[in-house]
Amino acid sequence: MKVFETIRQMGHEQIVYCHDKESDLKAIIALHDTGLGAAMGATRLWSYASEEDALRDVLRLSRGMTYKAACANIPMGGGKAVILAHPENKTEALLRAYGRFVDSLKGRFITGQDVNISPEDVRQIRQETSYVVGQGEKFGGPAVTTALGVFLGIKAAVEFRLHKKEINQLKIAIQGVGSVGKNLCKYLYENGVQIFVSDLRKDKTEEIKHLYGATIVDSNEIYSLDVDVFAPCALGGILNSSTIPLIKAPIIAGAANNQLEDEEIHAKLLQSMEKLYCPDYVINAGGLINVYNEMLGSNEIKIMSQINNIYDTLLEIFKRSEKEGITTHEAAKDLATERIMKTKKIVASERVFEKSVSL
Ligand code: NAD
Repeated sequence: MKVFETIRQMGHEQIVYCHDKESDLKAIIALHDTGLGAAMGATRLWSYASEEDALRDVLRLSRGMTYKAACANIPMGGGKAVILAHPENKTEALLRAYGRFVDSLKGRFITGQDVNISPEDVRQIRQETSYVVGQGEKFGGPAVTTALGVFLGIKAAVEFRLHKKEINQLKIAIQGVGSVGKNLCKYLYENGVQIFVSDLRKDKTEEIKHLYGATIVDSNEIYSLDVDVFAPCALGGILNSSTIPLIKAPIIAGAANNQLEDEEIHAKLLQSMEKLYCPDYVINAGGLINVYNEMLGSNEIKIMSQINNIYDTLLEIFKRSEKEGITTHEAAKDLATERIMKTKKIVASERVFEKSVSL
């Protein structure tokens, strides 16, 4: 990969490679855009097949965070970090060394919990830096608010595509019933939805069957079920040339980050098959809204009103996509870019005003 050419095209500001000899830490922190505020984005620990895979992941995820914050009207920039390690090799020394690198950025990057980073790990990182959020369970924690946002996003998609205000009696398939998927099942069950689930872990699907009467299906079968909504809540890259042709559901709405393997090709393929795709960074913004408000010390009314906005933002994106004949992915990107440009202009004019007043 030509790194400078790639980051020029993707618009990143800074990539920080971190190495600590003692703990053998290898991490990459990517700051995509700090124009609206510090770059906010969680830290993922993953055993990548190659360093290039890790770089590609952190670049895409950090850019997604910029768009996510803009679509959620949160005045923060986008960033992300990946630690290149096997979960078994995660040690306190490694996490603390990583915390010192986060601290060295002096608040330009604020991080939290992602795949393979637990609340306990966040506490270890916090011993070295205060630029960490999301270790609390306020408002139920990020997974609960993410699930609530996805639930509202599903309702918006059902209203737009199926012209139904209620989702009871619909059939919804959820891929991955971890922290977010499980909470999503709860909201769906309480609203009379018939639930189908798959997960690589049998104990998790059995729990959902027991709690919410879900039907367990095989991991390969989940795509081709005759359901109203397919909700990817496991890993990224699962909307690709092999899986998309299998999908029968008219709506795709789930929490996983980076669902499209190739953002342009696969968004267009979904559009050509008349599938309504809810852009991942719009529908899964509930976690970011949670940690941002935790940082501000906001009350529950404020956070709930921001999560409710996910519903309206998605409707706006669907309408724009239909009107302009573009994919929902493009419509979301355009909306995010417009909001960023507008806010940057306001900030710039405020600075000019402050300068002229002080003269
Ligand atoms: P998690 O690790 O708790 O759950 C993921 C589940 O998916 C696990 O149970 C795992 O066994 C299962 N899984 C993995 N591969 C699978 C496959 N091929 N088929 C079926 N199941 C599979 O993660 P989570 O916190 O629930 O997050 C889920 C997704 O949502 C991730 O992509 C994450 O990046 C994204 N997300 C999470 C949050 C949050 O607040 N937790 C916020 C925004 C986005």
